[in-house]
Order: sequence, then C-alpha cells, then structure tokens
Amino acid sequence: MIERSDIERLQAIVGPDNVSVRGADLEAHSVDESWYEPRMPEAIVWPSNTEQVADVLRLANERGISVVPWSGGSSLEGNPIPTRGGIVLAMYRMNKLLEVREGDMQVVVQPGIVYDDLNAQIKRLGLYLPTAPGSADVATLGGMVANNSSGMRAIRYGVTRNYVLKIVVVLPTGQILTLGSNAKKSTSGYDLLSLFVGSEGTLGVVTEITLRVIGLPEKVAAAVAVFENLGDAANTIHDCVRYSVDPSALELMDAALVQLTNQQHGLQLPERPLVFVEFSGSECAIEEQMDYLKEICEDNHCLGFQVGMTTEEREKVWKARQVAHDTIKFSHAGWRQISGDVCVPISQFAEMVAFTHELSEREGLALYVFGHAGDGNLHTDMVVPPDDPYEFAKGMRVLDAIVDRALAVGGTIAGEHGIGLGKRHFMAKEHGASLDLMQAIKGLIDPKGIMNPDKIFPEA
Ligand SMILES: Cc1cc2nc3c(=O)[nH]c(=O)nc-3n(C[C@H](O)[C@H](O)[C@H](O)COP(=O)(O)OP(=O)(O)OC[C@H]3O[C@@H](n4cnc5c(N)ncnc54)[C@H](O)[C@@H]3O)c2cc1C
Repeated sequence: MIERSDIERLQAIVGPDNVSVRGADLEAHSVDESWYEPRMPEAIVWPSNTEQVADVLRLANERGISVVPWSGGSSLEGNPIPTRGGIVLAMYRMNKLLEVREGDMQVVVQPGIVYDDLNAQIKRLGLYLPTAPGSADVATLGGMVANNSSGMRAIRYGVTRNYVLKIVVVLPTGQILTLGSNAKKSTSGYDLLSLFVGSEGTLGVVTEITLRVIGLPEKVAAAVAVFENLGDAANTIHDCVRYSVDPSALELMDAALVQLTNQQHGLQLPERPLVFVEFSGSECAIEEQMDYLKEICEDNHCLGFQVGMTTEEREKVWKARQVAHDTIKFSHAGWRQISGDVCVPISQFAEMVAFTHELSEREGLALYVFGHAGDGNLHTDMVVPPDDPYEFAKGMRVLDAIVDRALAVGGTIAGEHGIGLGKRHFMAKEHGASLDLMQAIKGLIDPKGIMNPDKIFPEA
C-alpha cells in the first residue's frame, strides 16, 4: 500500500508534475488491449532518465511496492496491467532517438519511442527496423523488447530479439546494468541480454536500447491470392516455405475477416480466404519470385492472383491486414474480444487452421482466423456478447483447446504476444521442470517480487 510519504519521495525523485494519483490517470493505465478487467494502480510515475528509474525502484524495493512498466499499453495478454495496485512506471515520455551510428547501421533509443516514429526518423538515411508489429503506430521499443514482439516481416527478418544488441536495464534493487555489446555477435558468457528480452517487465526496467537496423529495400511488391477454402490457402503457405519462396511477409485472412475488412476499410477484396504476400529486394529478383509464387498458388487451386498494385493500393491493403485485431474490435463494439496467439511447426499449420475453424463452428462461436502464417503463427480472435458468462466461458474453453492442440503438435503457447495474465495456466504444461528454473531466476533478480507481479508464472 502506497503511503503519503511514498508519494512525497516519488515527487522528490521525478518532480511533482511527474507523479499522479488522479483517478483519470490511474484509470488510463489500468488496462491494455486485452479483454482483462481494469486493475487500478495507486500512482503513476513518469521518469525521464535511467537514474530516476533506479531511484524509484530502490524506493519501491525498500517498501515492497509493486512496479509495472507501461509503455504503449497495446499488449493483448494483460502484460502491463497493474494487478496489485502499486506504481505504474509510464515509460512513454522517454521517447528519444539518442544516436544513429550510420556506419554500423545501429541506433540507440530510449524505450518509449514508438516503432513507426523510429522508422520515420531514420527513413531519410535509408534505414529501417523491419519487425513490423500490427500495432506499429502505438507499440514502443521498450514494450517490443519486453514482449519480444514480432510481426508481418518476421518470416524473413526475424523478431525483436534479433535486432537488440545492447540494453541498459535497471534491476528491482535499483542496480543499473548494461547487457550486450555493439558487436554483431558474441560468445562471451551467459546471454543475459536474451534473458531480459521477452521477460515482460518481470525482471527489470529497460531504459536504453541499441538496435541493429537494416537498409531499405530497392523495391517492394505485393500479391493477393484468392482461395476457395482455408485448407488450400493454408497448404499454399506451407508450400511457399517448403519450396523456399522468399517473401518479406506471408499472411493469411479467413473469408469472414475479409468481409469485415472490406466494410471497414472501403476495400473490394474477394470475400474468400486470402493469402497476402510481400516481396522486397531488387526488381528482377522480385519478378522471379512472383512467378514462382503464382505457380505454387495455382498448384493449390488458387481462384485468383492479384499483382501489380500501386504503392498506394498496396499500402492500403497491408494496413488493413495489419489492423485486423482492431477491425474485429470495431465491428463488434462493446463485445469481448478474446485474442489467440499460438505458433506451430509449419507442417502443422494447415491442420491447426482446420482444427480451429471446425471447433468454432461446432461451438457456434464467432471466430476469425488470421496471422503471420509463414511463421506458423496463428491468431484466432473470438468475439462474445457482453454480459454473457456462458458464451464467455465457451470462448475460453475453445481458446484453451486451441492452445492445447498447438502444444500437442509441437508448437508453443505464445508466438508473439507473450504470457501476461492470459497464458500462465499453460506454462507448466509447456515448460515442465524448466519453469522452476525460470522461477528461481526471477527470485534471484527480484527477491521481493515487486516487478510486474502475477505475470508469466502460474498463480500460486
Ligand atoms: C491491433 C494490435 C496489433 C498487434 N499486433 C502485434 C503483432 O503483429 N506482433 C506482436 O508481437 N504484437 C502485436 N500486438 C501486441 C502488442 O502491440 C505488442 O506486444 C507490443 O510490442 C507492446 O508494446 P507496448 O509499447 O504497447 O507495451 P506495453 O503493452 O505497454 O507493455 C508490454 C510489456 O512490456 C513491459 N514493458 C513496457 N515497457 C518496458 C520497459 N521499458 N522495460 C521493461 N518492461 C517494459 C510491460 O510491463 C508489459 O509487460 C498487437 C496489439 C494490437 C492492439
């Protein structure tokens, strides 16, 4: 429980204007983009540098007050929800691009910088960070590092972890560490940097990030392939991976979602299962790849193959794909949206899609299938009416069945959204005894358990 004297000490650290206990501020930081109920923090603190973060953590550790880092608030599993009150450390004002090392193609940023803003600032240098989460306009680099986020281009360019070279992190005790180096690779000791990437703010607060970025491609082109059924679309995804088509994105959308997308974004996409493919690179390489892709689509009974979009058309279609989660949300205003995120070996992807669709049809649930299909990353968003506990429980049962199935076929319970509150009950099933080791590491770094409690680990 935060006392008046704690607030005064926090004000002395960050300045009186950077601490709030006002209801509106507390409420704004009580949620993320998941369906989880709001949980009110007791104070919001906006730090502006690493030393302030260290002082806040020292105080919180001494007093046993929980601290939850909160950046864009766009998580889908309850990751930044302050379940035990305490302090929300709002990191989004630490949002500067600190340095560009053009020669090494590296940037140093504060954690609150938004993905799109970073790319807008380095575009004129012909550089970009390619990970492309669907929430690119709100997700911050701190949140992306903490969730090890990825996105549409992971199939070719990998996930956030692949771009993080170095971080400054403040431990719950207030100790400041620098992990990693500016070198492209390293075999120097335990990989503590990787431990912190994806730790969802449960081990410390990231206050500075050095990232590797890459050169903008010469050309980008896209195709949309239309299929009679989801099975053919999913098999096409598999064949693209199997036969080494080299897209920079390979995405899937089911027919119901295409319908919503057309309605909301003023598009005229064929209302069938669609595979979206993007290539980037040199003009002649793209032409070759496009022909190869067309062959594969035709072998899988594709009904149509749309190419030659203008940059504007392509960006409109890709934006629509990118915001699929919001499209579903806005077309079912007030409904509860249960987001699913599993990742399976690519050989199992088509079967997983079929399983998901059959299950939701049998249960009579509105479920939309999409995702970063080329990685075997399946998103299954369900919507259930508000104040209908029966339908909600059914939705949760279906979600659990999908996660169970992903595990049974050798996949993982979380492809990119992390564990947060939502997937904790599957952690033991996926990790077995290694969960004890994770718990021991957490206990070592955060002995008082103040950092983002109730996340990742199953309820005691
Ligand atoms: C429409 C939509 C589309 C999405 N698409 C994708 C997608 O394609 N791929 C994907 O991976 N995710 C996606 N997401 C999920 C989410 O946007 C990402 O996980 C994103 O990276 C979260 O960033 P954030 O800044 O919003 O972080 P937050 O939600 O604020 O926080 C995320 C986690 O990081 C911790 N944290 C935040 N800042 C720090 C810090 N400085 N130090 C330590 N811990 C910190 C928080 O405590 C929390 O556990 C999507 C979400 C939406 C709403």
